[in-house]
Amino acid sequence: MTTNHEAFARARAAIPGGVNSPVRAYGSVGGDPRFLAGARGAYVTDVAGREYVDLVCSWGPALLGHAQPDVVAAVQEAAARGLSFGAPTVGEVELAEEIRRRVPLAERVRLVSTGTEATMTAIRLARGVTGRDLVVKFSGCYHGHGDALLADAGSGVATLALPGSAGVTEATAAETIVVPYGDLSAVEDAFTRYGSQIAAVITEAAPANMGVVRPPEGFNQGLRRVTAEHGALLILDEVLTGFRVGPSGWWGLESGLDPAGDDYYAPDLFTFGKVVGGGMPVAALAGSAEVMDQLAPLGPVYQAGTLSGNPVAVAAGLATLRLADDAVYAHVDAAAARLSAAVHRALDDAGVPHVVQHAGSLFSVFFGELAARFSVTTYAQAKTQDAFRYTAFFHAMLDAGVNLPPSVFEAWFLSAAHDDVALGRIEAALPAAARAAAEA
Ligand code: PMP
Repeated sequence: MTTNHEAFARARAAIPGGVNSPVRAYGSVGGDPRFLAGARGAYVTDVAGREYVDLVCSWGPALLGHAQPDVVAAVQEAAARGLSFGAPTVGEVELAEEIRRRVPLAERVRLVSTGTEATMTAIRLARGVTGRDLVVKFSGCYHGHGDALLADAGSGVATLALPGSAGVTEATAAETIVVPYGDLSAVEDAFTRYGSQIAAVITEAAPANMGVVRPPEGFNQGLRRVTAEHGALLILDEVLTGFRVGPSGWWGLESGLDPAGDDYYAPDLFTFGKVVGGGMPVAALAGSAEVMDQLAPLGPVYQAGTLSGNPVAVAAGLATLRLADDAVYAHVDAAAARLSAAVHRALDDAGVPHVVQHAGSLFSVFFGELAARFSVTTYAQAKTQDAFRYTAFFHAMLDAGVNLPPSVFEAWFLSAAHDDVALGRIEAALPAAARAAAEA
């Protein structure tokens, strides 16, 4: 058996920073990342044989818990029929139909392999359809690592405190207008100045990459109104929230499916990822037939992928969505309510100023007096929190056998497998972690 320390040393000699995605490196919390050897239900096991209750859930996909037996069986069955064909399959059609059943605006669905590809393609499609170049995004929102969308991004870009990325040309950066999150008048100002050049506004349906920030009441509806007035597209990025916070994602919770409903709004494009692949590389871009049919082979906007709609990956996504019924969402909602209340109580008891913020079953903790007094609505505020308290909290939880996201800017993820025993173990670890945060 190896140790995490040995595995990390070996990894760093072969892989940049020892990881294939930056936040995994514990860059902001420090220490040796846990190299995982397995995952089942609500638990993960590291290479040293230690088990942890998992609150990362593969950063979202594991809605049903890790290695859910029916999903694994579907994958095994698909794998036995062939790993990749490079030809259409009925499974892809079934997955597209399942997405449309949940989100009726998804009249056409194009499957890709990562959320990055989905948002990148959405931007290209918006530009192709409108004949315009500029894109509006919000600070602190993360949409994957496509060049156009890295400016002032959340997730690992926030964790590493980067303004964007080296290697993105100035010309590309100049085509992205970055606006404070939640500020509809700033969006209107951008349209007043550049309206005829803006192809799209892209927003996280509910931001969860600068910590969790619930969209202000009517904000997404406001974006729909402003974009429509100026002939720009609205891209709702549900890579993280889609099929996780509810059967029809954040959009379903906030808008409702009924076009006559008071809160209803209709984005032009949705991007999905994570849960839609059930832990395998599947993501999707979806929207009206009119817009989506501008993609090749029907239209002039090119997009392709050798492994797009991979049959084994699609089997995992389809099995996951078919099992993700109302009972699953009710369970995850209840688990999130119970755990977030327990976190709040423990931090309060230890005298740690903080606020726990929610968007459906997603939640995260912001530390510090300012956050506690005013809550957090923008990336600028999220960045000023007492992140060092999270470092102490994170390591105390890890030492007690709880795997939290290794960055204060990430959401905590629960699953249908987080039962009373798993939640009880997390709750038992909270008081000491809260005291560690207080003493940091
Ligand atoms: N959009 C959002 C909202 C995300 O949270 C993420 C990933 N965390 C992405 C896009 C990018 O997805 P991927 O990592 O699969 O490229």
